[in-house]
Amino acid sequence: MKDLYSSTRSKEVQVRDVDAILNSLAEDGGLYVLDDLINKVLPLKQMLTMSYQDIANTILKMLLPSMQEEAIMQCVANAYGSNFNDEHITPLKKLGGQYVLELFHGPTCAFKDIGLQLLPQLMKTILKNEQKQQVMILTATSGDTGKAALAGFQDVNQVGISVFYPDGKVSEMQKLQMVTQTGRNTAVCAIQGNFDDAQSAVKTIFNDTMLAQQLMQDGVTLSSANSINIGRLIPQIVYYVYAYLQLVKQEEIAWMEEVDFCVPTGNFGNVLAGYYAKMMGLPVHKFIIASNENNVLYDFFTEGTYNRDRPFHKTISPSMDILISSNLERLLYYASNQDADYITSLLDKLQKEGTYKINDQLKKRLDTMFYAGYASDEETSTSIKKVYKDCGYIMDPHTAVGYKVMQDYLAKNTKHTCVLLSTASPYKFAPQVYQAIYDEDIKGDEFSLMEKLSKSTNTEIPKPLQDLRKLKVLHNDVIKKEDIADYVQKKIKEVLL
Ligand SMILES: *Cc1c(COP(=O)(O)O)cnc(C)c1O
Repeated sequence: MKDLYSSTRSKEVQVRDVDAILNSLAEDGGLYVLDDLINKVLPLKQMLTMSYQDIANTILKMLLPSMQEEAIMQCVANAYGSNFNDEHITPLKKLGGQYVLELFHGPTCAFKDIGLQLLPQLMKTILKNEQKQQVMILTATSGDTGKAALAGFQDVNQVGISVFYPDGKVSEMQKLQMVTQTGRNTAVCAIQGNFDDAQSAVKTIFNDTMLAQQLMQDGVTLSSANSINIGRLIPQIVYYVYAYLQLVKQEEIAWMEEVDFCVPTGNFGNVLAGYYAKMMGLPVHKFIIASNENNVLYDFFTEGTYNRDRPFHKTISPSMDILISSNLERLLYYASNQDADYITSLLDKLQKEGTYKINDQLKKRLDTMFYAGYASDEETSTSIKKVYKDCGYIMDPHTAVGYKVMQDYLAKNTKHTCVLLSTASPYKFAPQVYQAIYDEDIKGDEFSLMEKLSKSTNTEIPKPLQDLRKLKVLHNDVIKKEDIADYVQKKIKEVLL
């Protein structure tokens, strides 16, 4: 069936789109992919006059064929309205000779809102037809997904949510955003270790078939709000299309002229959505993949070898402190002409040996579409300072990693217009940004530094961050990763049963 989603590791594992969203991960541990994606062609000409919301409606209808059109429109209207503080949802701005696409105008001030304002709406709609079913969302976060998922799923009927973040390895502001979360169905917990520990702990629960069977008897399914869920990935295709059409409308590029996108990357969700847009006909020349010092993707795209055995660096762009990029599996699936056996063999190697090498043919194919680079913390800070001085534009550290890598790329490649994706508000990382611009030893807490940054640059603090100061801390749990199953069972009893 061409409208079914299958697993990256076996074409025999097939489900409907709505079940792919509810279950998140395929039963064989693979990720859900739509084989027919290569035949879906974006109606770009028609989209030229559409609003952000209508582009979203069109793309969702193409990729979630079993959902009703009116239901999709309702979901989109609920997800992208006054909860964003810019009517364009993702405004495109000029930055020097290039462009920056701001993805941080949602309620939690990071790009995760684009996926996570919509995913809960989709789940709510799907669950309306399954009255006896409940879902527990489990999410590992490197800082921004957690809050965005909590904000999206707070008090959604038939759904509970547990967020796991690496203890001491998210920014103070990110932590505060999460531990002050209200809602009768929310749980937030620190895990001792780094993001990969949190993510692998969550994955062990998804692979625990005994637990799944036991929960099924209570009518509870486990699901994820990470970008392994297609319900979060699909909404991210929209802003690539929207940005492209804006460039055409502003007569910056000719119709069907190719552009480059530069994407600050961790779990490879954001870039993958762009690759989907390209597969569906968006004229993209290259994706520029920007990493911080955790440059496992840089090594992979330059050498063809993925090796997760390497030191973990804590950087000033914590949402990209990731060594295991889950969504790379989907890219390899499509780029290998949907060879599930080959993907299984690579992932087996990764599991057993911590590394794999792709064949030359696949490597060559990736070379035609991707360029990779990375930035140290120092280069990141220097970029923040330089762009503020030269253009008066304030970048957060993640965006600045992208900027640095984009400059390296542009030094040799100037043929195409390049769009840099800005993934967070600079106010989410005010101490790092302030220090980068003013070279001062910073004193004071996050809030006083936000104010200092606001006064000195004459820009506004986003309201959701400003308001955080008044909120009470409601979540204090810290656990070892071995204890995650017990924790989840306890929370299911508390918030769902
Ligand atoms: C999550 C995140 C990233 C990385 O995005 P991926 O989809 O995981 O590649 C980059 N920047 C910020 C601010 C983020 O929150």
